[in-house]
Amino acid sequence: MLKPASLEWRQIPWERALAAASPDVAGPLEKALAGTDLGMEEGLVLATVEGNDLVALVKVADEIRRRVVGDRITYVVNRNLNFTNVCIVGCAFCGFSRGPDSPDAYFHSTDTLVAKSVEAVELGATEVCIQGGLPKDLDGYYYVELLRAIKARLPDLHVHAYSPMEITYGVEKTRLPLREYMQMLKDAGLNSIPGTAAEILDDQVRRSLSPNKLKVRQWIEVVRTAHGLGIPSTSTMMYGHTELPEHWVRHLLLLREIQKETHGFTEFVPLGFIHSQTKLFQKGGARAGHSVHEDLIVHALSRILLNGYIPNIQVSWVKLGFEDSLACLEAGANDFGGTLMEESISKAAGANFGEYVSPGEFRALIRTIGRIPCERATSYQIRKVFEHADAEERLPPERIPIFDSTPSQAPAPSMGY
Ligand code: SF4
Repeated sequence: MLKPASLEWRQIPWERALAAASPDVAGPLEKALAGTDLGMEEGLVLATVEGNDLVALVKVADEIRRRVVGDRITYVVNRNLNFTNVCIVGCAFCGFSRGPDSPDAYFHSTDTLVAKSVEAVELGATEVCIQGGLPKDLDGYYYVELLRAIKARLPDLHVHAYSPMEITYGVEKTRLPLREYMQMLKDAGLNSIPGTAAEILDDQVRRSLSPNKLKVRQWIEVVRTAHGLGIPSTSTMMYGHTELPEHWVRHLLLLREIQKETHGFTEFVPLGFIHSQTKLFQKGGARAGHSVHEDLIVHALSRILLNGYIPNIQVSWVKLGFEDSLACLEAGANDFGGTLMEESISKAAGANFGEYVSPGEFRALIRTIGRIPCERATSYQIRKVFEHADAEERLPPERIPIFDSTPSQAPAPSMGY
């Protein structure tokens, strides 16, 4: 089994790794290197590799990454705004949502969210990422009003907001047609949307995770409509719960087909399932989250199957921890995601864990694997290339997992997506 910290596999040239692979695996990898789109069967072979075949998969994915996007590793300085944790949907995999009467339920006021956005910009953020729970009595125009309030104060801030689930909820509440509702969001200042709430794009798997969640058809409809209106989105997949390798492959091939048609996805973000505080795991309905083996396969497989159609593969450091994130950045991924400033405040207030990495810490981590850090905009336009280390660069105190299964040390649960 590959260990992320082990330098052994990281130093093997891709040609040598490919030569040591079994013919069944080497064949599809050679096709991928030649730029050919792989299909379901080939994807399935690659999704179940072990040993030398896994090393070959990872090394070839890394080589394709180099050819598609080069050696830079990008990140965005942003802040997460989770405006409420009250939610009626009841996804079994979510450790974030609360009932309205729960003692730790919250709903931040619009003034607070605007103030947090202003603070983020003062600290260097170029983006706020807004998502929340779905409270029963939410006004369908809330999402629009929040955008207007933020944009009135910060017209140049990139607002990346509202999952397809939230947008579907807004449509339900207002009874407006989807396209009209999304145009209204765009006119109010929406710049892009997170492609969350995708989980696994398979209705059977979705039923077991969350029967109340939007269906595959609805997720696709929201994303296609957004892209058609010139609103780009990310794309995601949650893995490490009940799904099988065939679901990863189908999910990736579906995203590839949508992207060929719309060109609207900026990146793909695999999201490892964080199990410990979820009903799904506690009731025995899922395995114990993602393993390092799965992390490497999923990131490498996505690079190979998406084959440059979606050029950016992002690691979710909040889910993976730093060590594993760096390993995946050597297995096909090229983006470190965002600094997620939100929790810097609770960290400053003495919390054990925060969901925050400073830009200098990102850059120091990136240099440990010999790559070049770059700050980017949400759109992946490069804002600054850091060719050389500077005084702000230092490794974060904990290089290994910020997640710990010990409840007292666990971070505040993030959005379950
Ligand atoms: S994942 Fe989102 S929709 Fe599902 S319960 Fe959690 S907050 Fe609600």
